[in-house]
Amino acid sequence: MTTRKILVTGGAGYIGSHTVRLLLDQGYEVTVVDNLSKGYRENVPVGHLVEMDIADTRRLAAVLKESGAEAVVHFAAFIAVGESMREPARYFSNNVCGSLSVLAAMADAGVRHIVFSSTAAVYGNPHATPILETFPIQPVNVYGESKVMVETLLRWFDEIHQITNVRLRYFNACGADPQGRLGEQHEPETHLVPLVLRAVESGQPVTIFGDDYDTPDGTCIRDYIHVNDLARAHIQALEYLLGGGTSDAFNVGTGTGHTVLEIIRAVEEVTGRKVPYTTGPRREGDPAALVAASDKLRTKLGWKPQYTDLREIVRHAWNFARKSKTGT
Ligand code: UDP
Repeated sequence: MTTRKILVTGGAGYIGSHTVRLLLDQGYEVTVVDNLSKGYRENVPVGHLVEMDIADTRRLAAVLKESGAEAVVHFAAFIAVGESMREPARYFSNNVCGSLSVLAAMADAGVRHIVFSSTAAVYGNPHATPILETFPIQPVNVYGESKVMVETLLRWFDEIHQITNVRLRYFNACGADPQGRLGEQHEPETHLVPLVLRAVESGQPVTIFGDDYDTPDGTCIRDYIHVNDLARAHIQALEYLLGGGTSDAFNVGTGTGHTVLEIIRAVEEVTGRKVPYTTGPRREGDPAALVAASDKLRTKLGWKPQYTDLREIVRHAWNFARKSKTGT
């Protein structure tokens, strides 16, 4: 069998780099395109990185042709919701125009499949939970809107250029490579699990954004999914498209929700230390509960989460945090 060749944009970032490792482990030939504005060179195994901006359509088309890629996994994007509301132009430009450039390059190079990093933020404040893929698309922030706009572009590139797509709508990615090679390193960090781990290490309290929600302990519920389970969904989506599957959207979550306090308790169990925390006001735009209905991904793509124990997810994140701190 010939080796499958895949091009990954944003493969030096958090979810991208975990997906690249899994692809390589499974024998795919991988070319990573990343401008390293957010990602880290050391996340990509030597020899696989092309350092460039996805906005450079002509060069990207040339890289696609040269690599012989049959499909693209497109991660490269800005991801901070709060920042997107302060700098909409930068977000629309990078996320929407960047994706348009990727699609134009694919059309030029004759690449016919794309797996796209979408988000649960496309649903905005859903009327019910768990969230089905058929729920109304009504984002409440620029980040979510930028992903909706790309989902629209994808529809037209399928219709006109026969580029089939899978839109993966992520819930809360967390954890790290079980072997400790990779982990989460956003700068600035805004995500709960790494912030709670930092609080344990620094002694500086993490703030819980609101404890007066209509949930069992008053804190928000989210669907926390191990980054490797998320990465595996991309590979299954690729296999689906390469096998002739038609364009579709899938939620990627475990189907189980946890509160902020449950995350804090899990961190305490794993680290054996108290988490210093304070309670602050609600964060603007935070719905009380966001949990995925993941049945579609399970039935249609045969996906199943491997890591369903929150403590195991936290343990992997903690191992990476300690390792990157000590530099071992
Ligand atoms: N959260 C919190 N304190 C923080 C960061 C996050 O209480 O310093 C809460 C946030 O309100 C949400 C959950 O943790 O309910 C997950 O937030 P995160 O930013 O990690 O992901 P999001 O759900 O926004 O994608």
